[in-house]
Amino acid sequence: MQFYSLNHRSQKVNFKEAVIRGIAPDKGLYFPEKIEALKNDFFKNIDQFSRHEIAFQMIRQFAEEAIPETELRVIVEDTLNFDFPLVKIEKDVFSLELFHGPTMAFKDVGGRFMARCLSYFNRHSDEEVTVLVATSGDTGGAVASGFLGVKGVRVVILYPSGKVSEVQEKQLTTMGQNIRALEVDGTFDDCQAMVKNAFLDNTITDEVQLTSANSINVARWLPQMFYFAFAYKQLEKPRKNLVFSTPSGNFGNICAGIMAQQLGLPVSRFIASTNANRVVPNFMKDGNYEPMKSVATISNAMDVGDPSNFIRIREIYQNDFSKIKENLASFSFTDDQTREAMRKVFKESGYIMDPHGAVGYLGLKKYLATHQDAQGIFLETAHPVKFLEVVEPVIETSIDLPEQIRQVMGRSKKALNISSYEELKSYLLETQ
Ligand SMILES: *Cc1c(COP(=O)(O)O)cnc(C)c1O
Repeated sequence: MQFYSLNHRSQKVNFKEAVIRGIAPDKGLYFPEKIEALKNDFFKNIDQFSRHEIAFQMIRQFAEEAIPETELRVIVEDTLNFDFPLVKIEKDVFSLELFHGPTMAFKDVGGRFMARCLSYFNRHSDEEVTVLVATSGDTGGAVASGFLGVKGVRVVILYPSGKVSEVQEKQLTTMGQNIRALEVDGTFDDCQAMVKNAFLDNTITDEVQLTSANSINVARWLPQMFYFAFAYKQLEKPRKNLVFSTPSGNFGNICAGIMAQQLGLPVSRFIASTNANRVVPNFMKDGNYEPMKSVATISNAMDVGDPSNFIRIREIYQNDFSKIKENLASFSFTDDQTREAMRKVFKESGYIMDPHGAVGYLGLKKYLATHQDAQGIFLETAHPVKFLEVVEPVIETSIDLPEQIRQVMGRSKKALNISSYEELKSYLLETQ
């Protein structure tokens, strides 16, 4: 399978090249040349297949020729060594819990998969790859955990000072070994802009082999297809019209869901639920895409003013606005609405949602209010314990720390403060 750049000025590359580069030389995102639906009866017979088999069948065409099938099966099995339970919250409303991995957010799936792919590609090479990544919170931890100790890979994580939760900060600053954290005096958008600059900067890229572990990287993005199918498999029967509500920031997760639908997964609609950062809900009204400056909210992993993967969604539908509208709805919610949803669900069912999952829940409820023939799944993208500062005061109950989190909270933070692009540049060039 070849991947082309969405800017159309770079050559097509295979999966290996796309993963190592992260982004095309013309700065476009890579996109698969074709998407072949799986055999007709694959999703019909999904009950017969194991999780590993489902994942393998879904990813296989994309990694073809770059990773032999036996290796790919091993990568898939190592990646998916935790559960993805579907929990019923109310009639027709289910939570897909994506937080049972090592850093308790869905990004563990992409982080683990990508690390194992890079490790496979690097098996005979002495060249060091630098994974440079900006995080609004959860990417950093997932990438740190996924890449810890991977040979030939140095990981440099940029995060906005004071704008990630305590748990998130510990997860990305305490790993040591090949993982470095840079604490940026600025916002997530500033971190993302610095990373983008570094990729454009020949004085760096001539010296350092850079790649990205944000969801622009196909190996981070595509494995996120898997759990949409795992959710479908677990759904009560008879299955009704299924909608997924995905709390969205950079829109990688929801775009992976749409890819799963392209492979044949029976989904009638996707709902992109956002916080106050409402570039896409605005787009869905009139087809005008206008990036905004990101605003800080209690669902901080979604504080994105120019979602990098939205262009992939437009590509899937050949930029046809009416087709996009047929498949996608998008709603924005305030922090107050989010808190209220967390409170209400906890009171009525005892279920604790994190602020991101709560935004997903709100989007789903809004959709179901006018679509009674549907049933829906919202993605619970992180464990509520990652956002203790927000969750505990809202539900007025304390949450026990799971073992993964307790361990990390006991370690000490190690990060270098930077406040300008020049500082990042000298760091990358001087500390190889
Ligand atoms: C990253 C993240 C999101 C947003 O996912 P995208 O793929 O960027 O849209 C939502 N919730 C949580 C908890 C996250 O960490």
